[in-house]
Amino acid sequence: MNAEIIILGNSSAIPAHGRGLSSQVLQHPESNYLIDCGEGTQFKLIENRLRLSKINSIFISHLHVDHILGLPGLLSTLGMQSRSAPLQIFAPPGLTEMLDVIFDHTATYLPFEIKINVVDATKYQLIHQDSHFKVYSLPLDHRSPCSGFKFLEKVKRNIHPDVIRKYRLNYDQINALKSGKDLSLQGVQLKSEECTFIKNEARSYAYLSDTAYKPSLASYVEGVDLLYHESTYTHDLQHLAAERKHSTAHQAAMLAKDARVKRLVIGHFSSRYKNLMPLLEEARKIFPSTFLAEEGKRFPL
Ligand SMILES: [Zn+2]
Repeated sequence: MNAEIIILGNSSAIPAHGRGLSSQVLQHPESNYLIDCGEGTQFKLIENRLRLSKINSIFISHLHVDHILGLPGLLSTLGMQSRSAPLQIFAPPGLTEMLDVIFDHTATYLPFEIKINVVDATKYQLIHQDSHFKVYSLPLDHRSPCSGFKFLEKVKRNIHPDVIRKYRLNYDQINALKSGKDLSLQGVQLKSEECTFIKNEARSYAYLSDTAYKPSLASYVEGVDLLYHESTYTHDLQHLAAERKHSTAHQAAMLAKDARVKRLVIGHFSSRYKNLMPLLEEARKIFPSTFLAEEGKRFPL
């Protein structure tokens, strides 16, 4: 599978030093998953040559303006492009009311269906699945209800060609075996596990948006291929991080280490840092496989 995370924006609170507000895309050959939608996200999608029509689901961590203000404009653009496919949005409570007010007062009509799924930001639970991924909410600790997201790729299976030939399987029977069902054919038991083999290794990505350092999150993101953790400050400002319910680069790295993830990406940088190297160096002292969420950067899963 050629899935990758593309960073569109990494700045906390305000645009600064050429850095835009939070947004990223999980790009998959068949579908794009947009994660947070700060102001300016549309421009970044275009700059990164990402087709807006391939976005089928949008995941909003919380309703702070630096994570959400790009959404009304993006939805309006999709409408003007005559989108007809339904769009799924996942967000904590309040988004429906917010969009209703904006669209009412701006006389915006959308020619496609939006299904807003309210996420309980206090729970770790399965909130969505399609043919590629299962998506779980992760309970973060922030000043407003805020949820992280974990994407777990589904394992896909292929059938051994000799089984097809031997039993003259038709299309439906092949699909049944590939999807994990066992078959009984003229008294012969065909077990999915024996007739098929794993086609892809399941990859995983976890996005920990705005949050105070919360060590218990490690158990939810244990072993993921790629972890994004906000790192608003360096550790000398840990008191500020605690007060504002954000994390330091040191804390992000501690969580990555505890959870034994493969790679860590840090982002959501305070505008006080023009140079991001101190944040990177701080995290790498604890977790060497750390990278900066620089805009336009792509992280293959
Ligand atoms: Zn926030």
